[in-house]
Amino acid sequence: MIEVGEAREFVLETLHALAPVELTLAEALGCVAAERVVASEPVPGFPNSSMDGYALRAQDTSAGSVRLRVTGTVLAGQVAHGSVHSGEAMRIMTGAAIPDGADAVCMIEETTVDPDAVTVQIHPVISPGQFVRHPGDDVAVGQTLLESGREVSGLQIGVLASQGLASVTVHPRPRVGVLSTGDELVGPGDELAYGQIRDVNRPMLLALLRQSGFTPVDLGIARDNEGEIIQHLQRGVDECDAVVATGGVSVGDVDFVKTMLAQVCSGRARWMQVAMRPGKPFAFGTADPRGVPIFGLPGNPVSTRVSFEMFVRPALRRLAGHQVLERPIVNMVLDCDMTRRRDGKLHLVHVIVHTSDDGRHHVVSASRQGSHLLSAVADANALALIPDGEGLRTGDLARVMILHSDSSY
Ligand code: AMP
Ligand code: MG
Repeated sequence: MIEVGEAREFVLETLHALAPVELTLAEALGCVAAERVVASEPVPGFPNSSMDGYALRAQDTSAGSVRLRVTGTVLAGQVAHGSVHSGEAMRIMTGAAIPDGADAVCMIEETTVDPDAVTVQIHPVISPGQFVRHPGDDVAVGQTLLESGREVSGLQIGVLASQGLASVTVHPRPRVGVLSTGDELVGPGDELAYGQIRDVNRPMLLALLRQSGFTPVDLGIARDNEGEIIQHLQRGVDECDAVVATGGVSVGDVDFVKTMLAQVCSGRARWMQVAMRPGKPFAFGTADPRGVPIFGLPGNPVSTRVSFEMFVRPALRRLAGHQVLERPIVNMVLDCDMTRRRDGKLHLVHVIVHTSDDGRHHVVSASRQGSHLLSAVADANALALIPDGEGLRTGDLARVMILHSDSSY
């Protein structure tokens, strides 16, 4: 057996971010910037009002309440006719350019329009610059808007749009082929003969990939037959940036995926027994000429899920250009015993996280654990990492890998 860290190192050491492409802002959401973006336009581009009110000369209000002559109205998008002289004001709407001569705005709530509508009563003393938004307040020319290596968020798309940008250079989302293998597998809607099972891993992985921001590609089901497995893997290598196959990596008579993977990955492939439970058998290789990574995960669905989290997701995040590859790992309080026996392995226990009255995160184990018991762990939102030994007790702190940071705990 090899340690989890060694297996992960073998996976990650040859992988690099995919070559940058230019994507529209909408397509780039969640991708990683491949270049620094620097502002070429100031935002705002001109002095404008942050209130609906009256543009005026602050000095005119220095003695308190004053009556000013209204010489016009400026709406957002318009340019004022003429300028504001002493004793004058212009009605102005939020976002409209401050007229020449004016240096401040009085909000409409602090004014009274005279019945003749020709003059307005300004009640407070206004200081120069009040309610005026200045050019470059938000973005100055030359300012970095997006660092290379940063994930493009919805707010960053807003900032880029404020520059008039329609696209951005990012690492593309990896296209990831998903292949299930096994003579016993049956697709949805098909009749289930005795001894057959439904294909669970393929729909699950296609969904997990999408959840993590990658583009899933369905490579179907291959029977436990060398030729069929090779053909499906090769199609994945040709069409995708990475391939994830499940089943056929253990020590059974027809576990051909591990050997076929090695054949497709001529040279750099390894079949491993990783010191973790579930998810011990694992195969990985990279296929020439593009060095496409191929993952061979164990067939039991819970093992598939755990191996996906431990090896596949970090590797795909590297292809996608992310700098942080791992899920966050946080110390949390155990609300139940997690005893185990010494077996040289790291145990990964599906847990449910909640926030307790003590302000700390606590975890309880999902109802039942077993590599074939998927429904029992489907509500879990984290994995407790229980190191080799006798296990942990209620009240102990455990290291917990958070899988769904968006769940409501
Ligand atoms: P294997 O690694 O091929 O020996 O498979 C281990 C276990 O996982 C067996 O019980 C398989 O029937 C099961 N299994 C393999 N592939 C899938 C799949 N795609 N969906 C659900 N169970 C699977
Ligand atoms: Mg099998």
